[in-house]
Amino acid sequence: MKTMTCKQLGGACDKEFKANTFNEIAEMSKKHGMEMFKIGDKPHLEAMNEMQELMKSPDAMKEWFENKRKEFNALPEND
Ligand SMILES: [Zn+2]
Repeated sequence: MKTMTCKQLGGACDKEFKANTFNEIAEMSKKHGMEMFKIGDKPHLEAMNEMQELMKSPDAMKEWFENKRKEFNALPEND
């Protein structure tokens, strides 16, 4: 398992996600983001706006995603 925080995944808090694959951890952070969106958490809403700006460019989005995947793969394994 590897650990990444919400912030590391483009979010706004220090909540930690643990997963074996990048896709899994990306999914967890997405779910968490949705929950924060529902309760109207401002820092997360702002982070999401930034992500949405990024998503306007498919290339930039792809690059961001690949960078995060690399970051995930470079992390040491923990339990
Ligand atoms: Zn968060």
